[in-house]
Amino acid sequence: MSQILSEFDVVIIGGGIGGLTLSLKLAQANIKVLVIEKEKQPGKIYKGELLQPKSLEGFQEMGISDMVVNESLSLPVIHTYEMKEKKDGSLEEGLYIPLEYERLHSQFPEARMIPHEKLKKLVLDQARKYDSFHYWNPATFEGFTEMDEKNEQFNKANVQFENEVIEVEAKFFVGAEGRSSLMRKAMNQHVITTQYNHQFLTVTFPRPENFTEARMYASHKSFIGLFPLPDNQVRSVMLIKPGEYKQMKKQGLESFYEPFERFEPALKDGVRAIESWKQIQLMIPIRHNINRYVKGNAAIIGDAAHTVHPMAGEGMNLAIQDAIVLGELYVWMFRENQLNPKHLKYYEKVRKKRSDRLSRLSHMSAIAYAWPYKWYQKGRMFALKRLERHPILHYKHMLNISGVGWWPYNLLDGFRFLGPRNAYVNNWFTQKKRSVIFDKKDDYPWLK
Ligand SMILES: Cc1cc2nc3c(=O)[nH]c(=O)nc-3n(C[C@H](O)[C@H](O)[C@H](O)COP(=O)(O)OP(=O)(O)OC[C@H]3O[C@@H](n4cnc5c(N)ncnc54)[C@H](O)[C@@H]3O)c2cc1C
Repeated sequence: MSQILSEFDVVIIGGGIGGLTLSLKLAQANIKVLVIEKEKQPGKIYKGELLQPKSLEGFQEMGISDMVVNESLSLPVIHTYEMKEKKDGSLEEGLYIPLEYERLHSQFPEARMIPHEKLKKLVLDQARKYDSFHYWNPATFEGFTEMDEKNEQFNKANVQFENEVIEVEAKFFVGAEGRSSLMRKAMNQHVITTQYNHQFLTVTFPRPENFTEARMYASHKSFIGLFPLPDNQVRSVMLIKPGEYKQMKKQGLESFYEPFERFEPALKDGVRAIESWKQIQLMIPIRHNINRYVKGNAAIIGDAAHTVHPMAGEGMNLAIQDAIVLGELYVWMFRENQLNPKHLKYYEKVRKKRSDRLSRLSHMSAIAYAWPYKWYQKGRMFALKRLERHPILHYKHMLNISGVGWWPYNLLDGFRFLGPRNAYVNNWFTQKKRSVIFDKKDDYPWLK
């Protein structure tokens, strides 16, 4: 049976990190918001845990950064090692590159690791403090019942909640339901998908207390990423070829322990705490791109709008940053009584360009580790060395992945890449560094 429930200002479908961040932002401004989330229990799937500086700055604007900092572990540097792997399997360090967030002009010159579900709970607990926040869980969005095709207006949606199908009305609908978004389908958005020639195994296991720095190890045929979490845990990712997972399962857990013990002997005991393949998750990377994030009074955020390759640790951050920009826009629209949906285009204008760039950057990072040949590793080592040794190139890379600004790559970078170490670095660089950081006008252009 269907019943019509009172109207909401904004209905958000999906209580993942994107949907929850947006809901908190709206609840803080007394906007009547409903979040519909289908999963009753916290997710068991490993998801993004690395927070980039721009997401931390966004949480600071929302007044929750202290809590996030308390629950997370700071990573000011990502230590990257290229290892020479010999025929007998022994390893020798070929190149060490520190990727330094510390170079950034940000309140948070660091990445931070936080368990995904802990971050979601923290945001949800904050949102629950506001009367304007409504959370239906478990509840499933089933589709729209009333649409005005001509005016591109979505009016009512069906939601399965407490054994009833409830018809929900709202001024605005947001799809934050992840990569298989129903809202994206309702908006008729064509998805361009990229698949990859590799997969990942990912799992969290115990670490020694003093193992507190992020490390990535690559040889010509292996890649392992180690990202420490609070509470003496470490999140690991291991790159494998499609089909290798089945083969490894047949061989037994030793085949999983072995690369960790070889690349990072300090984690020998920790990795052996994994007792079953059930604890280890197979992650199949995929990239989705679409043309529009907004249609009429509907918008999509996070993985619903763009799924990115996980190599650069951007997926969760793009979802958070989408939520913050769209949230700020709704706050302005409701405060100034500017409720014409045409204003949602501001969100698409700011966020689509940034997400497309970071999706491309994540894709390029994936390509850098995609083929298991010695000549390919040599090429990567050359590129990494050149990128790290030139202050401008190093800064550009860290700035662009951090989300706090964007400095496009250009022809001069070719000279910087091939030329001498410190060429062209002077006062100009010090000033330029600041000018490429996004300010309020870039983030929220409707606030004249
Ligand atoms: C294995 C893995 C590892 C990752 N590692 C990283 C990383 O290291 N760094 C990083 O930044 N990103 C990483 N990501 C990506 C990151 O987790 C996602 O980009 C991020 O979670 C997207 O957030 P979201 O809120 O858009 O979507 P989701 O987290 O997918 O949340 C969507 C929510 O919507 C709910 N939902 C779906 N359909 C409906 C419906 N019809 N009705 C009601 N509710 C619905 C779902 O239950 C879910 O809770 C990883 C992802 C995976 C899968």
